[in-house]
Amino acid sequence: MSDILHIVGGGMAGSEAAWQAAHMGIDVVIHEMRPKVETFAHKTGNLGEMVCSNSFRSDDSEQNAVGLLHWEMRAANGLIMSCADQNRLPAGGALAVDRDPFAETVTARLMAHPRISVSYEEISTLPDDGNWIFATGPLTSAGLGTAIAAETGAEALAFFDAIAPIVYFDSIDMSRAWMQSRYDKGETEAERTAYLNCPMDRDQYEAFIDALLAADKTEFHEGETATYFDGCLPIEVMAERGRETLRHGPMKPVGLTNPHQPDVKAHAVVQLRRDNALGTLYNIVGFQTKMKYGAQTEVLRMIPGLENASFARLGGIHRNTFLNSPTLLDGQMRLKSRPNVRFAGQITGVEGYVESAAMGLLAGRMAAGEILGHPVATPPGTTASGALITHISGGAEAKTFQPMNVNFGLFPPVQGLKGGRRGRKDRYQAYTDRAKADWLGWLEQTALDVA
Ligand SMILES: Cc1cc2nc3c(=O)[nH]c(=O)nc-3n(C[C@H](O)[C@H](O)[C@H](O)COP(=O)(O)OP(=O)(O)OC[C@H]3O[C@@H](n4cnc5c(N)ncnc54)[C@H](O)[C@@H]3O)c2cc1C
Repeated sequence: MSDILHIVGGGMAGSEAAWQAAHMGIDVVIHEMRPKVETFAHKTGNLGEMVCSNSFRSDDSEQNAVGLLHWEMRAANGLIMSCADQNRLPAGGALAVDRDPFAETVTARLMAHPRISVSYEEISTLPDDGNWIFATGPLTSAGLGTAIAAETGAEALAFFDAIAPIVYFDSIDMSRAWMQSRYDKGETEAERTAYLNCPMDRDQYEAFIDALLAADKTEFHEGETATYFDGCLPIEVMAERGRETLRHGPMKPVGLTNPHQPDVKAHAVVQLRRDNALGTLYNIVGFQTKMKYGAQTEVLRMIPGLENASFARLGGIHRNTFLNSPTLLDGQMRLKSRPNVRFAGQITGVEGYVESAAMGLLAGRMAAGEILGHPVATPPGTTASGALITHISGGAEAKTFQPMNVNFGLFPPVQGLKGGRRGRKDRYQAYTDRAKADWLGWLEQTALDVA
């Protein structure tokens, strides 16, 4: 088998993967379809182009999970972070970058590397041999999308996300909410109590519908269409169709008894379902929405039990090609059915520039390690990079899998620390201290592996 690593897509993930593998001594070819084939969001032929906002979000590596991911990538000689730092703009605690010079820097540094070459072409098949990383992102070309769906089965490749908001379990007021599946259905106690229920009386429901209808909504991007709505209507669109629609849909109050008020029949019930194996995250069932983030938190905190909710991620609906990674990928990001093919970036079901680049960093190192005959271990789940890869390759619920930002809910809890809002600062500090030590240990161990 050839020792060359082929990377399809020169965005955040593909660029980082190429850089990491080349630094481990591997020859890399990046296959990038732009500028020959365009997407509706990219504007240039540059590698590492940012398609929308120019922010890499928080740069706080002690209290913020995305800031921690920055730290980990910097410690691992990350190209994307280095180019972001070089083109940084003032933005308070956030890392904002000057987008065109940023992408020009990424392109120039990749082009200048003696082990990296770029071939401007669209790849539309999954190859049978050779070493490949597919990092084609949310706007993967149609031809390649068809080839991937043929391999994985159409139901395992989505073309749009429909993200329901996700809440940290420890921020839910359980003196108002309770655990119960409708009609107590299920063989085991865990199944009979699989849902977390938040009840509303008539006045609360009416006020909620008013707020939903009045909330600011995000417009669709050019090139996005609303045809994908069937089966995943945003809650505000349901409310627009009639004030009772939600009560007959995701908020129906049937088959449930509130143990806090057994004699009172709820007018509507919002249900949340566990989102990860750790049980730290719950998604609000059927609550995909195009409400703007500010409006969304305000409206959702009107739900009894969620008054003080902290959100691991807010809802949205976007054009987004992504795999059902928990069923398709192994812990090395290889396609189980075709292990010479890895995936990286947003197509694996992470969300955001930083998370995508981080998955590129891991895929690049893992692919290079395999070619060198020194496998690179999956990083521990206590690190930000490890928590993400653990989530997408099996920690997440496969049935309801939707793209995920990095957040502390993905980390195994640190024992012995106070829960809730009061203990948050100490808890986050403990997560990030542990992550940094474990990440440095992993870097050292994997560097020895390939020495
Ligand atoms: C409209 C829109 C707005 C977004 N806004 C934000 C935002 O504000 N902040 C944020 O953090 N994230 C945002 N995202 C998500 C963003 O796309 C990702 O965070 C990030 O760019 C993903 O990195 P990636 O490397 O996986 O994909 P990309 O950066 O998109 O890179 C994929 C590359 O693959 C190429 N490609 C696709 N198919 C083929 C093929 N068949 N052959 C060869 N090359 C191919 C593409 O041209 C592209 O260069 C947005 C996404 C979209 C679609």
